[in-house]
Amino acid sequence: MKKLILIIACLAGSFQNGFAQSQAIFPEGERGSAQNFTGTVWVHVLVPNDSTFNCSVGNVTFEPGARSFWHTHQAGQILLVTDGTGYTQEKGKPVKTIHKGDVIICKPGVEHWHGAAPGSAMTHISINTNTQNGVVTWLQSVTDQDYPKQ
Ligand code: MN
Repeated sequence: MKKLILIIACLAGSFQNGFAQSQAIFPEGERGSAQNFTGTVWVHVLVPNDSTFNCSVGNVTFEPGARSFWHTHQAGQILLVTDGTGYTQEKGKPVKTIHKGDVIICKPGVEHWHGAAPGSAMTHISINTNTQNGVVTWLQSVTDQDYPKQ
């Protein structure tokens, strides 16, 4: 009987841990525009842009296979990956795999994209800095040919 109680307690504990890990930190927000993203992407503005901070902060969730179009940030961008596994790539360089806990620096004017891996969602916080110098210029989509299959 004691063994059975112990097993049940262990199962309950691991269920709780699994549940806690899958809890999102911030709200999912609104569906991202199909003009800027391929697949299903959710965008929630955490700090709107203004002329005091010249900075905007958003929570972005990419469902598996979803990614941004190619784009540049005139004044740069910082990404904090808070969940899942994804990809990022600068034009002319190899695709990099990114994981929860990674910090990605997108330098001003460098063409790039970011998104989820095919088998995993990916969530990052995006911080757009020095927005008085511009925020984002959207370019063409990342084609299925350019997007890694695994
Ligand atoms: Mn970017």
